[in-house]
Amino acid sequence: MSDCIFCKIVEGKIPATKVFEDEDILAFNDINPVRPVHVLVIPKKHITSLATAGADDTVVLGKILAKANEIAVAQGSPDGFRVIINTGRVGQQEVEHLHAHIVGGPDPVGPML
Ligand code: 5GP
Ligand code: ZN
Repeated sequence: MSDCIFCKIVEGKIPATKVFEDEDILAFNDINPVRPVHVLVIPKKHITSLATAGADDTVVLGKILAKANEIAVAQGSPDGFRVIINTGRVGQQEVEHLHAHIVGGPDPVGPML
């Protein structure tokens, strides 16, 4: 998707502080963190949202969740974290490339992003 900011981050056309990467997923710090640890984990393939993800996306979606604890611990949230996937208009999704927020830090995280 040529006009997608997260695809541009995947392609290296927009800078980001990457914290994990493999062939399928990329994790980078949120540009506007709401807590000391705030990482976005995305599929490298453009998937608009959970509303449009299909059966072919099962593996990459599982990878995002399976890596969350490792990323949180490495970034300084060893005692837990929240995973938030805003979806669509009602979910107040702003960037239309599926992303999981991993939010944490030394202190407990509030109930909302
Ligand atoms: P959403 O509301 O779509 O779930 O969250 C989008 C998130 O992407 C926001 O937390 C916002 O700060 C973050 N974001 C938007 N543009 C950029 C960017 O260019 N770089 C990075 N690192 N984060 C971004
Ligand atoms: Zn994209």
